[in-house]
Amino acid sequence: MDKSGAAFEYQSVLTLKGVGSAIAEKLKRLDIATLQDVLFHLPLRYEDRTTVVPIGSLQAGQQALIEGVVEYSEVKSGGRSRRSLLCYFADGSGAIVLRFFHFSKAQQQQLSAGKRLRCFGEVRFGANRLEIAHPEYQRINETPSSDGSSAVEQSLTPVYPGTEGIHQSLLRKLSAQVLNQLNTQSMTDWLPETVRQRYRFPDLTAALQQIHHPPNSLDADTLLLSATAAGQRLIFEELLAHQLSLLKLRTAVKKQSAIGLTLKPELLAAFQQQLGFALTAAQQKVVAEILDDIKQPAPMLRLLQGDVGSGKTVVAAIAALAAASNGWQVALMVPTEILAEQHYNSFQQWFSDQAFSKTENSCVLLTGRDRGKSRQQKLAAIRQGERQIIIGTHALFQDEVIFNRLALLIVDEQHRFGVHQRLALREKAGLNVGGTDSAGIKNYVPHQLIMTATPIPRSLAMTAYADLDYSVIDALPAGRKPVNTVVVSAQRRDEVIARVANACKQGEQAYWVCTLVEESEVLQCQAAESTAQMLTELLNGVRIALVHGRMKAEQKQAVVAAFKNRRVDLLVATTVIEVGVDVPNASLMIIDNAERLGLAQLHQLRGRIGRGKKSSVCVLMYQPPLSQQGRQRLKILRQTGNGFDVAKKDLQLRGPGEVLGTRQTGLLQMRIADLARDSHWLPEVKQVAEHIIHHAPEAIEPLVCRWLGRADRYGQV
Ligand code: ADP
Ligand code: MG
Repeated sequence: MDKSGAAFEYQSVLTLKGVGSAIAEKLKRLDIATLQDVLFHLPLRYEDRTTVVPIGSLQAGQQALIEGVVEYSEVKSGGRSRRSLLCYFADGSGAIVLRFFHFSKAQQQQLSAGKRLRCFGEVRFGANRLEIAHPEYQRINETPSSDGSSAVEQSLTPVYPGTEGIHQSLLRKLSAQVLNQLNTQSMTDWLPETVRQRYRFPDLTAALQQIHHPPNSLDADTLLLSATAAGQRLIFEELLAHQLSLLKLRTAVKKQSAIGLTLKPELLAAFQQQLGFALTAAQQKVVAEILDDIKQPAPMLRLLQGDVGSGKTVVAAIAALAAASNGWQVALMVPTEILAEQHYNSFQQWFSDQAFSKTENSCVLLTGRDRGKSRQQKLAAIRQGERQIIIGTHALFQDEVIFNRLALLIVDEQHRFGVHQRLALREKAGLNVGGTDSAGIKNYVPHQLIMTATPIPRSLAMTAYADLDYSVIDALPAGRKPVNTVVVSAQRRDEVIARVANACKQGEQAYWVCTLVEESEVLQCQAAESTAQMLTELLNGVRIALVHGRMKAEQKQAVVAAFKNRRVDLLVATTVIEVGVDVPNASLMIIDNAERLGLAQLHQLRGRIGRGKKSSVCVLMYQPPLSQQGRQRLKILRQTGNGFDVAKKDLQLRGPGEVLGTRQTGLLQMRIADLARDSHWLPEVKQVAEHIIHHAPEAIEPLVCRWLGRADRYGQV
């Protein structure tokens, strides 16, 4: 134990040989501050330096350890190639070139004819023979002895995630040093004994030894390490740490107070009365769940999933009514300005009835486009509590926005924000009211309703949303006609255009969606512009408008409003219309280059039509040739109308990482676990997490800290 008396694992890296303050500073960038951090900085992959490979048997693409003698070396310069040092290197079985683009005089000396070296690097095709660029090399004895000049590695060599100024060799030395100390020091194993026994997991020290220095009986390329008991143990522990982190968060939030909100039955009845449609049974069920939850003086933490068009907005409105009618504020956050405006309009309409006159007056829309005086006025109205229902984009969570009695937070289309932002935002919302808010009310946090249309498989939801209760709207409103989806080659573009012309002449409205061009928003907007121009030239008498992400918010909204009011027949758009545009009369959608989009996104886009009484058609137009997988994916959409089924099939085709999408994965970046590969552990992990929370809470903090770092990426509440 060191002088400070800290347990072994919490000792500073400064206690290690070779680490001074400068290196310690650089290690911080890798989140390495303690000996434990060194041990849990796990290898990304391994290199096999356990056997010397004959040069004659090398193949391009292979990483190998070789031994031989420099036959001669020369500096080549001029011509088209860069100045470089070339060493012709041979071992009797064959020869190879070692190429260096940067080299010092001293190196040139080390690499001169007659020198005997051991090298490691990746073999590739050079100008006319195999070569290795910048191999790692070391001098070995001039006269080889039968027992080998110096011993080769006994285990696979770990390759760690690095950072500038920190060499692999240093990381390797550090981990070897700490592992060595582990022979005499001990580290607490927080995984319950029962779990270790049940799965025959090795103890922590053994597992770490193996993960850093696996035996060469494992294949370095295919990395079968995840299949070893040591690998499985660490995977389990990492999943457990993530689960605990979210559950800890949940427990902390649940312990706080919230405002119990009761919606008067007569108000709920009046609201439903004037809707113009009856809530579906599925909607009624989740409304009941939510109203039950927010009655409590503990904060609701609820995820509401429902397919596109299942009617989540009206559910949110009812929850909002519960808050507003009791004189409390509710914030509804959405990802785009178009959607914010749309919701604002829906709420205005639904609350326009006499019974809600107060509620209607109390809606306010706040987006990034509010500037200057109007913005100040809105901010003041929110701060002074003159407005109860605050609808907006993430502009809602800027420091200047000060809520007044905020009792409910609703996040719509959560999948567009990502798990990270959700938690950051919750933290922010907590901060805004967690202390004393501007009305002087202390120590409560808002109820939270998180809505999403992206159906994510249960196992993934269990990880990404482990802190939330779960409601689902599992049926669409009655009378919806399923969207008839067809797949068409772009070679038949003329027919498609004729179809659009025909539909518009008969009073129908249509979308023409231009998809991403190589991830570039600018190019996507240009594509939409030229498509709009092309269609305008071709389609006489059809009123065409254009909407894309680079237009000003006012312009966008004006265009969408014109479309909604039937002053536009054909709306050419980029994927900005993916969420929130609700124009029931639109019944035809063309998606250009549909093969470029993910299934979830196509399904979400398609959800813009089929909202009215007319039967709708969605044309997925692809650029031939279409790959086998592309064909299969579009076929899924053609055959499946239900978002959950689409997601399930997509999952089979692409695996969970892809399905969840990069926007979701931020938080789920794990060190060794892989949600796609390891999800079978989740039910067990969940149980063990519950067990620890109730029976061994002292293990929570150390486990979370060990795997997620002291910063605890999920944030504090
Ligand atoms: P989403 O779940 O995708 O957010 P919305 O809330 O936008 O769905 O609802 C889609 C459309 O369906 C809206 O025009 C909405 O007014 C309408 N709607 C919602 N619930 C019902 C219902 N029970 N019956 C008929 N139409 C409904
Ligand atoms: Mg919606």
